Amino acid sequence: MVDKQTAPELFRPPLGYPEAPYDTLVRAVAERQPERPAIIYHNLSLTYSEVIAMTNSLANGLRALGLGKGDIICLFTFNRPEYTIAFLAASSIGAVISPMNPSYKEREIAYQLENSEASAILVQRELVPMLKSALEGQTFPALRHIIVTGSQVPEALPQAVPFARLLRESSPRRPEPVDIAPDDLLALPYSSGTTGLPRGVMLSHRNLVCNHLQVVTAANLSPVDATLIFLPLYHIYGVLLTGTFLIAGGRQILMERFELDTALALCEQQAVTWFFAVPPIVQTLLNASDEQLARLRTVKYLMSAAAPLAPELAIRLRERTGINVIQAYGLTETSPDTHFSPLDPARIRPASGGLPVYDTEQKIVDIETGERELPVGEDGEIVVRGPQVMLGYWKDPAETARVLRNGWLYTGDIGHIDADGYLYIVDRKKEMIKYKAFSIAPAEIEAVLLEHPAVLDAAVIGVDDPEAGEIPKAFVVLRPGQTATSEELMAFVNSKVAGYKKLQRVEFIEAIPRVPSGKILRRQLKERERARRLTS
Ligand code: AMP
Repeated sequence: MVDKQTAPELFRPPLGYPEAPYDTLVRAVAERQPERPAIIYHNLSLTYSEVIAMTNSLANGLRALGLGKGDIICLFTFNRPEYTIAFLAASSIGAVISPMNPSYKEREIAYQLENSEASAILVQRELVPMLKSALEGQTFPALRHIIVTGSQVPEALPQAVPFARLLRESSPRRPEPVDIAPDDLLALPYSSGTTGLPRGVMLSHRNLVCNHLQVVTAANLSPVDATLIFLPLYHIYGVLLTGTFLIAGGRQILMERFELDTALALCEQQAVTWFFAVPPIVQTLLNASDEQLARLRTVKYLMSAAAPLAPELAIRLRERTGINVIQAYGLTETSPDTHFSPLDPARIRPASGGLPVYDTEQKIVDIETGERELPVGEDGEIVVRGPQVMLGYWKDPAETARVLRNGWLYTGDIGHIDADGYLYIVDRKKEMIKYKAFSIAPAEIEAVLLEHPAVLDAAVIGVDDPEAGEIPKAFVVLRPGQTATSEELMAFVNSKVAGYKKLQRVEFIEAIPRVPSGKILRRQLKERERARRLTS
């Protein structure tokens, strides 16, 4: 039995959440502290009242374009203030944001536009050529508007509306309220899920409102807090960060991507208190000199999530910097956070993903049947329940029914709980590959491989890698009489997918192990790979 003394978090009463649209939480903060800085990006510093004025102008502008309740808007940009503002504007008019990875290539963009049935896309100017190339020769009947960052109409896409013009020509007054229910859709991020091609994860206003408040409470965030956001805003982890810091009344400094010296300089200049990272960044910090790390002196907590963190790294970084290094756990399907480490240094357990956040239940069940609940210390599938659990997968009721049973989400992760309720993630049952905390759906790479004329069959798995965590490796069966080298196949795949999905190894085999229904026996391939490592 979990003890009330050691894990009081597991016995607390419900937190209580407003049944209001997502943007109203930020509006309430802006009323309390209109002049405080909210978002800093290069030389631009936006106060809370400016964020709300821009949100209103954009919401009115989107409305004038005919966009409104239920319309899906893809965001295809790197981290910039427009991202956060588009989220708040969409929330204000009942529209839905589907974030898209800015490193996507044509087929990935086309897949998400088509599958989500997006009505509009906001694209960063520099990404216009890639978007144009993705749109060429294809029709997306639902896509009515292209909005481009900046103030100029790009030559390549003369139909695009400049973001700055939309703002300039629209009123900064709050748009007429729309009827939005807590269970209405607000975000549609794509995740590699448990199996198959990436799926849209349906997150509601309630999901994001609750999870933001769960995390603000778990991290005890307040207006004195400041963070750097270099983690991508197209991933739900980034969405959570930008939103929680706004709701907490704190400051956020946006970076397009992580660069060590810039990040350290910004931490120092901006007196950053929370540093949110993923395991490869913890490793990069450990490779830095003591002099460099001294620039983190205002940081109280460094949190790692999204992939397994070796506890030795957490301990070493804590020893070198004095910063409390903690973990959180969750997935896109849970908005994303379900677990967070206690903040009290005496209660931090570096190997654990943390304790359940407010109003979140956890259990470990038998991996095969998903039924029998397992006792403390035994590994099984991690199953969670709470107000942050998604509505389901977009246009996929069968997969939704498979992972969501009675409100419990079957995470596809394997782990155990200790006697005090702390969660430990030890493996993954689902197909997802995590390359440096980026999720990859093997089925996507397999589909590309099968387009190569010499490939008869293919299976992709993640193999352990000391630097990246995992890297994708393909097992390939060639068509009789055909030849292809591994280099040729890797180049073929890599020209068609985003950089982080890069295929790094190919092995030719006689046949892909499959069950009679055709499903790939990935475990068998993984075991074969592990056995080979042990003997090599
Ligand atoms: P995503 O939907 O891209 O956020 O990926 C979610 C997956 O990341 C989870 O299902 C886990 O496999 C993994 N993950 C998230 N947090 C952790 C953590 N603290 N430790 C280990 N794996 C994690």
